[in-house]
Amino acid sequence: MLNIDLHTHSRVSDGVLTPAELVRRAHRNGVKMMALTDHDEVGGIVEAKEEAARLGIQLVSGVEVSITWARKTIHIVGLHVNEKDPLLIDRLWHNRDGRKARAERMGQRFAELGVEGAYQGALKYVTNPSLISRKHFARYLVEAGVCPSVNKAFDRYLKEGGPAYIAHRWATLAEAVQWIREAGGIAIVAHPGRYDLSDLAMHEFLNEFRQLGGVGIETVTGSHTPDQYLEYARVADRYGFLASVGSDFHAPGESSIDVGCLPDFPCRVNPVFNHPVFRAIR
Ligand code: AMP
Ligand code: MN
Ligand code: MN
Ligand code: MN
Repeated sequence: MLNIDLHTHSRVSDGVLTPAELVRRAHRNGVKMMALTDHDEVGGIVEAKEEAARLGIQLVSGVEVSITWARKTIHIVGLHVNEKDPLLIDRLWHNRDGRKARAERMGQRFAELGVEGAYQGALKYVTNPSLISRKHFARYLVEAGVCPSVNKAFDRYLKEGGPAYIAHRWATLAEAVQWIREAGGIAIVAHPGRYDLSDLAMHEFLNEFRQLGGVGIETVTGSHTPDQYLEYARVADRYGFLASVGSDFHAPGESSIDVGCLPDFPCRVNPVFNHPVFRAIR
């Protein structure tokens, strides 16, 4: 099977490599086609595309949109969006708005929990001034010796409902799907296994997503266990969704799967790269 990775981050959001470094790493790992899917940002696509063209690999313009659904934070990946679309750029900018105020409140919460200077500490890791994420706090907690790893920082403090978690109101599901579609892209549910939804809520969510025009879900991702690869391949089949693959790579030594180091689909699926939007660039 072709080495394809449709979910990655650069320092334009909360990854640590520049878009060009990320593409070079993917190329070294044998990737033939990849998507850059920064959180609520398409600012790294041009650089990634240039490097991909130089190395002869295909770069899919992507984005990972944060949404709030039933008071939960969920991520919707857009693939093949037009990164130059001014409306998309403006909409994403608005969705990033509020991250700074939220991060300041997280800093206050950490102080109450006995961790001083967390906001300033997290800022040291921020590479896009309009995008401070929980990942930046997690990196600081590791640096400060408060937590042994980024994952442990999420488990102990930062996960939804954790002591340092500050709820935030993102775009709606309908908005995210509309933004992606109006920018020429297709909408995919990122790492569905990571959300704390009941079976019934997940069913409602997937039905609503499909009615709005969503076409796929991630099956093989760095955010799933191998059991979940199969579980969500079956969910994709049941709902008639295309199956997507992506490492969700952020940083060497931090992410569970390196860029372009994904296992094959666990069973027969209808892969997302069979969608007509992929044909245009093949
Ligand atoms: P934010 O957009 O600030 O809510 O932060 C989202 C970031 O946190 C993304 O990079 C996610 O991959 C990361 N993240 C969310 N939950 C976890 C977790 N349990 N373990 C590690 N990273 C996580
Ligand atoms: Mn991230
Ligand atoms: Mn995500
Ligand atoms: Mn991601």
